[in-house]
Amino acid sequence: TPPHLLRNFCIIAHIDHGKSTLADRMLGVTGIVEDRQMRAQYLDRMDIERERGITIKSQAVRMPWASATKEPARPEQGGVRPEGSPGGLRTYVLNMIDTPGHVDFTYEVSRSLAACEGAVLLVDAAQGIEAQTLANLYLAMENDLAIIPVLNKIDLPSAQPEKYAEEIAGLIGCDTADVLRVSGKTGEGVPALLDRIVEVVPPPVGDADAPARAMIFDSVYDTYRGVITYVRVIDGSLSPREKIAMMSTKATHELLEIGVSSPEPVPAPGLGVGEVGYLITGVKDVRQSKVGDTVTGAHRMASTALGGYKDPRPMVFSGLYPLDGSDYPILRDALDRLKLNDAALVYEPETSAALGFGFRVGFLGMLHLEIVRERLEREFNLDLISTLPNVEYQVRLDDGSTAEVTNPSEFPTGRVASITEPVVRGTILAPSEFIGTIMELCQSRRGTLRGMDYLSPERVEMRYTLPLAEIVFDFFDALKSRTRGYASFDYEPDGEQEADLVKVDILLQGDTVDAFSSIVHRDKAYAYGVQMATKLKELIPRQQFEVPVQAAIGARVIARETIRAIRKDVLAKCYGGDISRKRKLLEKQKEGKKRMKMVGSVEVPQEAFIAALSQD
Ligand code: GDP
Ligand code: MG
Repeated sequence: TPPHLLRNFCIIAHIDHGKSTLADRMLGVTGIVEDRQMRAQYLDRMDIERERGITIKSQAVRMPWASATKEPARPEQGGVRPEGSPGGLRTYVLNMIDTPGHVDFTYEVSRSLAACEGAVLLVDAAQGIEAQTLANLYLAMENDLAIIPVLNKIDLPSAQPEKYAEEIAGLIGCDTADVLRVSGKTGEGVPALLDRIVEVVPPPVGDADAPARAMIFDSVYDTYRGVITYVRVIDGSLSPREKIAMMSTKATHELLEIGVSSPEPVPAPGLGVGEVGYLITGVKDVRQSKVGDTVTGAHRMASTALGGYKDPRPMVFSGLYPLDGSDYPILRDALDRLKLNDAALVYEPETSAALGFGFRVGFLGMLHLEIVRERLEREFNLDLISTLPNVEYQVRLDDGSTAEVTNPSEFPTGRVASITEPVVRGTILAPSEFIGTIMELCQSRRGTLRGMDYLSPERVEMRYTLPLAEIVFDFFDALKSRTRGYASFDYEPDGEQEADLVKVDILLQGDTVDAFSSIVHRDKAYAYGVQMATKLKELIPRQQFEVPVQAAIGARVIARETIRAIRKDVLAKCYGGDISRKRKLLEKQKEGKKRMKMVGSVEVPQEAFIAALSQD
């Protein structure tokens, strides 16, 4: 397809604002999926995705759309409009590139945006715009995409299109009349939206004769076909059987198949300037085909890669341990398998005195952590314990040595000169009545207010700098509960800052329990220590002797509880009478012991660790 007939766009929307439903409707309206084949959320493929109703991996779909001719008459053709009479219909090719909707996947969002010339800003007409959408809208505007504002769900009785059209018009600087109104459910307004896309999204431009350059905006592992790489061609062209090279690694592969999704994969004779499609090379690991990388021809290589490539960088770390120690090899194989499909997943083996053999795993964020854990448990039938998630700290000691700490129990010994932690730029959107309570919350999380704007008299956008460690666990829940669910939140990494952080250890009878060591702000160390000591006192059964539970910073104890000794032996009850009963009791005790872990001379049931590690 020649570039002037191509339109590449994406849909920016908050979760639940109806992106998948609208995408389905577009497949129906353009006729590429017949009604009887249509199943809800056609494009959301992964099971977890479907169940949670979120989009994890981006997808691209090619749709034909016949629209009134929008091109000017061409002088070289004698002023005659191409194909037919003025205003006649001609068929355009629309490529819809789906974007993930969660903060953990911001980098993937930025790459999908870079593959488009236009973005549909989809907003629920009963909800208004949310922080996540706003962040992605700004990203799209920075990338100079044409923005098409659309209010969705206008069929809902609670829809307030007038009110929200004004909000959106104010944000992007358009007229309220330019805000389209659609219903993905009934289909109303969808053909008009497709026409608008043809009209306002610029056709791609690129140099057809230059060496090929295509940007990878997604890469997924398929059990049967290996890695499927989604690309947008910028310059030149790609064709089947040619040799391609990845510009970040210079690795070369043969193109076994090249095609377009419509929405099922269809092989194509090639992809030219502006076109979007998939490549299959037979590689088995998504790391060989990284999002953001540039694909070029191996025999005629481009001299410079496309900009914007970044290695995925884990932000949150947690220890993962099998509940049953003998499952360790299964966990190792499972992680190796998942890695094929997830370039952002990093891990290395670690051992814990309390939890045994496991892995320290790095994630993009908390949702990523949950998804990985759920897939491990579901697809590989594993029962896992995960330690409290933490961020990565840079520690500098007085002797000048430095260390990157992703596991608090591996904190270096020696006098600390400084510690830095990652911070984020957070955006909160909320009704203005909640400003006070939000400020209070952010202050308690060591946040700094950077600015505040009113979207309308009732809605405010607040911008904060916050330590990542303070928002990874429960910040979003706390924000939701303080604002009766009305606030939305988004963040992006914003470098590092020095902070007064200390490592708090938890000790049982003088021995450190490594799984409970944590790096916290000095002001919060005492609270953490007391909380953990109290929890453990409740969870660990009495022993034959008294067991002190302590929290300490270095050698300084900051909190202490005591588990008192039991007085009687279990066997004392049986007076030596019934020997079989005695044996039974002993056996029971032994069984219980299997799931006990020894910390020094203290027996701790594994359940106690699990309970203490679970957040409530
Ligand atoms: P996504 O998270 O943005 O992909 O949103 P979905 O397409 O999964 O839709 C979220 C919910 O809104 C689902 O329950 C849909 O049935 C519903 N929904 C989507 N579009 C419309 C619409 O136009 N009207 C109404 N009434 N409901 C809609
Ligand atoms: Mg969806």
